Amino acid sequence: MSTVNKQICGKTKEEWLQEYPIIKDICTYKEAVWCNPFKEPFEKAILSCPLTKADIKAADARLKRFAPYFKVAFPETAALDGILESPVQEIQNMKSVLENKEHVSIPGNLWIKLDSHLPISGSIKARGGIYEVLKIAEDIALEHNLIREGSDYTLFNTENFRKIFSQYAIAVGSTGNLGLSIGIMSAKLGFRVTVHMSADARQWKKDMLRKAGVEVLEYKSDYGIAVAEGRKAAQSDPSCHFIDDENSQTLFLGYTVAGLRLKKQLEEKKIEVDNKHPLFVYLPCGVGGGPGGVAFGLKMIFGDAVHCFFAEPTHSCCMMLGMATGKNNAISVQDFGLDNCTAADGLAVGRASGFVGSLMLPFISGCYSLDDSRMFHMLTALADAENIYLEPSALAGMYGPVLLEKSFDFRNYIKKENLDSSMMHSTQLIWATGGSMVPKNEMLSYYKQGQIS
Ligand SMILES: *Cc1c(COP(=O)(O)O)cnc(C)c1O
Repeated sequence: MSTVNKQICGKTKEEWLQEYPIIKDICTYKEAVWCNPFKEPFEKAILSCPLTKADIKAADARLKRFAPYFKVAFPETAALDGILESPVQEIQNMKSVLENKEHVSIPGNLWIKLDSHLPISGSIKARGGIYEVLKIAEDIALEHNLIREGSDYTLFNTENFRKIFSQYAIAVGSTGNLGLSIGIMSAKLGFRVTVHMSADARQWKKDMLRKAGVEVLEYKSDYGIAVAEGRKAAQSDPSCHFIDDENSQTLFLGYTVAGLRLKKQLEEKKIEVDNKHPLFVYLPCGVGGGPGGVAFGLKMIFGDAVHCFFAEPTHSCCMMLGMATGKNNAISVQDFGLDNCTAADGLAVGRASGFVGSLMLPFISGCYSLDDSRMFHMLTALADAENIYLEPSALAGMYGPVLLEKSFDFRNYIKKENLDSSMMHSTQLIWATGGSMVPKNEMLSYYKQGQIS
């Protein structure tokens, strides 16, 4: 195939390279940093935004309605009263390890948000994926007059409800973790559920789903194709609800609730967040829904005091490419010859969500990409320093605080935002997106890959 004169969104590769020097790094799988020139002050950014804080509160209220259901259907959620939430904790040892290894001084305190330890599916997808399934179930229950305002939601755990839900199907395309969340949740409620899995999905995730009664269809191609196939299959079945990871507003809103929850957690830990105490958050990004939703929730709560960065593998940095070029989901890393191959499950996405890319453009501080090997090294270092075991993708954010010091562009961002004098009072928060359900032997092999010989 000749690629010499191939057009990518109306330009040749050479023209793109000339206009956007960052694409040169992207094309050669080099680690890259992108500071967002389209970021706007919060008050201005929300003017053109279709979603509001009221939408987040409605999502939060729905999750609260289902809390009594979770307590009976998933007893492990009883400790938190049926609210699916993860701990946040300081990682001082890891901070020293990073500082020594990278020869930098990380400003402020280093914290980690352990979505890796969310109940039911052990990843950030337990926020959005489960939320959308609950919304579908609630809508159907209302339609069938099974519930009304004030009803006891433990009813969702009864045979009668399961019988009704078995007349409906749910489908989703996934690289693994979204499939786990939606599969486990849907099957528990009694839905017929199909997960369309991309080639990179781990065997143990497929096994776990099949054991839960989920139909798993496997494809030899990547995430984009798995989603497209799932969408197609669902279209031919009117009783089937396709959960669209690339476009779903419902899924997105499920993630945003994290903003409200984190605010409460930080208050409990006596961590201040305001313009004199900025909060920096580093989020591993695949298609964008999870990190975008969380970042959106945080912006709606903390406004200009929070600074959110997306982290992606060098082989799959679709959000950085889409945002930097302004081409959003019209452009893919494959257009530039990248292979979209990464060991970071959930991040192997070549084309970002158009919905998230455009919604988040005025809110996001920047993006960066990092090598898989770096994720593995930090995985092992974190296990040694803090006894926290994560999957590789969940470490993508860990490099952010280092780059904030090391990268010329990010240091410039601090200056531009007038943050130099408040950095020592900042909180650096790594959003750890998955890992607690990884089988022991798999985790050991991750750990070994990250050992520096
Ligand atoms: C899915 C996933 C992400 C990224 O979420 P997107 O919505 O795809 O951007 C990050 N980390 C892990 C572990 C994931 O499973």
